Amino acid sequence: DFPVIAVDGPSGSGKGTICSLLARELGWNLLDSGALYRLVGLAARHHGVALDDEDALVVLAAHLDVQFGTSANQQEVSIILEGEEVTNAIRTEECGADASIIAAIGSVRAALLERQRAFVSEPGLIADGRDMGTVVFPDAPLKVYLTASAEERANRRYNQLINKGLGASLQAILEDIQARDARDMNRAVAPLKPAEDAICLDTTDQSIEEVLASVLDQARH
Ligand code: C5P
Repeated sequence: DFPVIAVDGPSGSGKGTICSLLARELGWNLLDSGALYRLVGLAARHHGVALDDEDALVVLAAHLDVQFGTSANQQEVSIILEGEEVTNAIRTEECGADASIIAAIGSVRAALLERQRAFVSEPGLIADGRDMGTVVFPDAPLKVYLTASAEERANRRYNQLINKGLGASLQAILEDIQARDARDMNRAVAPLKPAEDAICLDTTDQSIEEVLASVLDQARH
């Protein structure tokens, strides 16, 4: 049994960035569980499966043909779905919205459970998601729950898009984040919430470096 650091929180809380930095710093493996839900969504589009066709979605989730390739420094990850590179394709807002609809289906979540647990390997795993500490890795020795105000999270996303040279509307991003929060927090199965034994960090006024330092501090305790 290798240790797991479970990192949960809403979209834009900085989880993704913090998790990849943690993986690099500690030399541990990384599970981006959100990518799995995004991949089921993309596979559904490719196969013409509707987002309310639970039975077909479960089959897609159970048989998802995906390879994650990671560079030595854990920074560049390439994702191959059914032989096709989809690394960037799964990052669109549309894919995120599809993922959050699919993620509300309990049988789809169950179909992805063992696949997520199989990521645990030597020397340890950084698990990024919504239910890492509550459902997938309830025995993780360290659980972190990252939050930030919706406005701050929208600002971060807006700046990311602008820096990539993409146009964006701050108001539309804020509305999207609020809609996704509501869906993720209010669903019946595995709703987004901190595990009872999670350390909650509000990153609204913190830099990436500050958040990383406090998580590393906890990890080294
Ligand atoms: O983290 P990311 O934005 O890639 O996740 C996309 C969606 O997948 C989330 O909005 C959430 O609904 C769902 N998800 C989930 N459980 C996870 C990871 C993601 O329900 N562990």
